[in-house]
Amino acid sequence: MYWEKEQETLEVDLLRKQQLEYIKKIVKRVGKSEYYGKIFKNLGGFSINNWEDFKSLPFTEKQDLRDSFPYGLLVTDLTDVIRLHSSSGTTGNPTVIFHTKNDIADWTNFCARSMYMTGVRKNDVFQNMMGYGLFTGGLGFHYGAEKVGMLTIPSGPGNSKRQLWFMKKFQTSVIHILPNYALRLCSFFEPLNIDPYTDLNLRIAFLGAEPHSEVIRKKIEEIYGLRAFNSYGLSEIYGPGIAFECEEQNGMHIWEDYLYPEIIDPVTGELVPEGEEGELVLTTLRREAMPIIRYRTRDLTRFIPGPCPCGRTHRRIDRIKGRTDDMLIINGVNLFPIQVERAVMECPAVGENYLIEVKTINHMDKLFVHVEVNREAFSGTLSELKKIEKDLTNRLRSEVEVTPEVILVEGGSLPVSEGKAKRVIDNREKG
Ligand SMILES: [Zn+2]
Repeated sequence: MYWEKEQETLEVDLLRKQQLEYIKKIVKRVGKSEYYGKIFKNLGGFSINNWEDFKSLPFTEKQDLRDSFPYGLLVTDLTDVIRLHSSSGTTGNPTVIFHTKNDIADWTNFCARSMYMTGVRKNDVFQNMMGYGLFTGGLGFHYGAEKVGMLTIPSGPGNSKRQLWFMKKFQTSVIHILPNYALRLCSFFEPLNIDPYTDLNLRIAFLGAEPHSEVIRKKIEEIYGLRAFNSYGLSEIYGPGIAFECEEQNGMHIWEDYLYPEIIDPVTGELVPEGEEGELVLTTLRREAMPIIRYRTRDLTRFIPGPCPCGRTHRRIDRIKGRTDDMLIINGVNLFPIQVERAVMECPAVGENYLIEVKTINHMDKLFVHVEVNREAFSGTLSELKKIEKDLTNRLRSEVEVTPEVILVEGGSLPVSEGKAKRVIDNREKG
């Protein structure tokens, strides 16, 4: 049941003590980098004796990583670095993260631990449908799966027919997939004459890289006949696998022997009371090449209070509600795309896809939600469609506190993307 029982179930007091020891060491080491060296110099030198000292350290932001491109945060000799990962960097410098041999070994280990926790074992066949390359989604799990000992198929994303062919031929039992892609891949069952319950051998899916709601999880579990586990990660802090659901499926254990998590109010930067929602902040405890102190992830979540029945003592975070960057402000009301998803996907007539559009009408923001309905509902009478429209408007209004205009469209007519779903179009007049 445990990959490393002692570490996973370490008493909370001991875990905190261990974390503080790691922090003392890492704070000493980061000073060697150009970026932190400057910060500590401005603070007149710095050392950590207790948690209060730690909490007085400034946050590190994504922009700091960009400004320090390429080597400003590196603390080891470049010859000790064996790999880099990078963000796409469509605007300005990309964020580049360097790893030593030990960093990759650590990442591999907690990916293996995460997977093992959900019940996968060495006799499973793992098909990894995440992007390989600079994006961390593919390689992180690939190494973890091999460490568990699974037969690993590095299929990467896309080419749906081949994906299903692999699944059938090699009797894939575990998949790693974008939730949005899982919802589209099933449209190939019918043309390929595949019954997922009899022709395929799937039992576990890891869903990651984009926030998704509980309804989407249930939908994927039902379509494929498997159990879907939520995974969290970001490339600046290793990648996927840093937090993962156990068999209880009740929040994601964040690996506190590798990271120290905090949750802050994104506006004031103050820690929020336990259990309240805020922005996740992470400190790497062991990373050699590029340790990061108090990194603002921009991801919104909360700690789930209380112990988990599985016996692991590492705190759990709730599913990601959204990114502070994705938050839309509509006539002064905060809205996250995931709230729209939660509301529309609960309606039985709704198909696989939806799109949020914001426009300026009479100097006011107006929210439009385009929703694909399933074939049966779409071929209904006009009054039946009006009923669905009204139902969706009510659901949305109570979830997001903004009255939207709902536009029903035929299943498959909204644009789809190979990678992460694009859910929001902001067509508001600027200024
Ligand atoms: Zn648990």
